[in-house]
Amino acid sequence: MRRAIYAGSFDPVTLGHVDLIERGARLVDELVVCVAVNPSKSPLLSVADRVALLEDVTSAIDSVRVTSHEGLIVDFARAVGATVLLRGLRDGGDFRDEMPMALTNRELAAGLETVFLCADPRYSFISSRLIKEVLHGGGNIRAFVPEAVAERLEGRG
Ligand code: ADP
Repeated sequence: MRRAIYAGSFDPVTLGHVDLIERGARLVDELVVCVAVNPSKSPLLSVADRVALLEDVTSAIDSVRVTSHEGLIVDFARAVGATVLLRGLRDGGDFRDEMPMALTNRELAAGLETVFLCADPRYSFISSRLIKEVLHGGGNIRAFVPEAVAERLEGRG
């Protein structure tokens, strides 16, 4: 049983995240999508809301399960018996940020491999941060997020 974790803030989940989940799920037996709780960030959506939206947009994929975790992702990986940490790469900026994280996690948990998937070019410009800015300015976010997410967020900002 090969199990992977895809962890992130998912604040909110975007079309880029969903694409990565779909492609990642094909590589393993089970993909655990994990809302990483970061007490130092002030999120747009609560952890429960982010989990619920992820469950909604991945409900068609049987091998995906959604949960949340506060603390080191390597500890979570050990607890659920995952051997793969899935991450997405959009551009050089992601690469610069992701490499030290991957190498740090490698030191902390030798049996856990970080696997990077290239972002689909259709979605590689999409970020949760920019979506929050568009939302804040009253703009339309439907091109960037699944429909359920747009419906949930409309009227917020
Ligand atoms: P974090 O706060 O950990 O950066 P995110 O939710 O923004 O959390 O992203 C989680 C993972 O998804 C990261 O590996 C990030 O590079 C990747 N990712 C974010 N947006 C996209 C996208 N549009 N396409 C592919 N991967 C993405």
